[in-house]
Amino acid sequence: MPDNKKVITRFAPSPTGLLHIGGVRTALFAYLWARKNEGNFILRIEDTDKEREVAGSVTQIQNSLTWLGIDWDYGPNKPSQDFGSCIQSERLSVYKKYADLLIEKGLAYPDPYTDVEVSAFREQAMAEKRPFLFRKHRPEKFEKWDENKPLRLKVPEIKRYTWHDEVRGELTAGEEMVDDFIIIKADGYPTYNFAHIIDDLEMEVTHVMRGEEFISSMPKFLSLYDALEIDYPKLVTLPPIMGPDGKKKLSKRDGSKDALEYAADGYLPSALRNFLALIGWNPGGDRELFYEMSDLVEVFTLKGIQKSGGAFNEEKLKWMNKEHMEHLFTKEEKEDYVISALSERSPDIVKKLTTTIFERIHNQTEIREAAEAGEYDWAFGPIEYDIELLKWKNDDSVAAAQPRLEKALELLQNTDFSTPDTIKGALWPYAEEVGKGELLWPLRVALTGRERSPDPFTCAFILGKEETLLRVRSACDKI
Ligand code: GLU
Repeated sequence: MPDNKKVITRFAPSPTGLLHIGGVRTALFAYLWARKNEGNFILRIEDTDKEREVAGSVTQIQNSLTWLGIDWDYGPNKPSQDFGSCIQSERLSVYKKYADLLIEKGLAYPDPYTDVEVSAFREQAMAEKRPFLFRKHRPEKFEKWDENKPLRLKVPEIKRYTWHDEVRGELTAGEEMVDDFIIIKADGYPTYNFAHIIDDLEMEVTHVMRGEEFISSMPKFLSLYDALEIDYPKLVTLPPIMGPDGKKKLSKRDGSKDALEYAADGYLPSALRNFLALIGWNPGGDRELFYEMSDLVEVFTLKGIQKSGGAFNEEKLKWMNKEHMEHLFTKEEKEDYVISALSERSPDIVKKLTTTIFERIHNQTEIREAAEAGEYDWAFGPIEYDIELLKWKNDDSVAAAQPRLEKALELLQNTDFSTPDTIKGALWPYAEEVGKGELLWPLRVALTGRERSPDPFTCAFILGKEETLLRVRSACDKI
């Protein structure tokens, strides 16, 4: 393939389920490389296996990519003037044209056997412990194709193939990997093996990026390129995504989810994108945080793609999400974020809790979990606690707290509650005089009913003056 062509990459999912993290990473790399080179990125829907198709997946795939900021120049909703639709089931005449061309060249033939006969060949090969090769059963004379039979490629040459992969270097596979494979099925749809090569050709794809599971099929693909006498695109095999231990492939148990579940968990698209970009790609240098898509485009290179698998570490993703939120959110956006996580609670109170909540959480799921565990309940409703909890560890009895709380009440009467600092300013000299724990412990308990909570100034600020005075009064009364 000449090097001066406009770079065109594609992401070519089969709509057989939800788009998961591995697919998103493939899409992202293909996207980054296209944008880096001011080329085109195509979203192609490979829906030729009608039995495995799952309704709604095309929409989910598009929504996921859109959420992540991965936009396509051509896609299911954007056909091209030159090559037409990006949905394979709408391109059957294109595959037919190439199938006819191969028939004309004597390089494709209808499979004359029934399924039962082919299975019998396969079983026999298994029994004899040799690989099943259809080409050993290739008919001597090719019938005319009536389109109700599968059409097979006649491999032009049976040989060992050697090819170049941009990531893995020289790769090779023996002739036992080369066989007469089906290019059009009996149902009239092309196979993946055939359709993707025709489409890559028609769409002028320059770089094919995908996972390593396709390496073993490369000899098949190469024999088809040869039969069609076309140049190979550049082949870029992406490393697998491994679980956190780096040993086994990523699974659901490691925290891997469908792309849009991350959105529902409150991950920022920029954080997920940043995180995925660094799995199996090394920007060279220490920089880890790339907030904007353009930051990634700028540094992305094929050279940085690693051969071996990259680990998926959920803790790192959480950390990154927090970094992105701190960097990208305004104060109002942080408030909206917690308000939307706790939509059933009073937004005015949630708003005041924002800083406190942000100190400990990394996503909205953690906010919801903390709320379910009752961590913020004190801020909303009446509190209940055992009176003994008001006793500071250095005091002999709970009664010792009473005069201190009375004094605090007095000081708070005339305090401005507009920030936690103004409240602290009002109480601090007295706390220093009487002992910090001696005042702050019972005050915290009076306000929250809890042993652990934000500092009492923050709690008082969140509760507001009226509620704070009520709660401290009630604690004094209880003692
Ligand atoms: N449709 C194939 C898949 O979803 C795409 C493989 C490729 O990129 O060539 O796995």
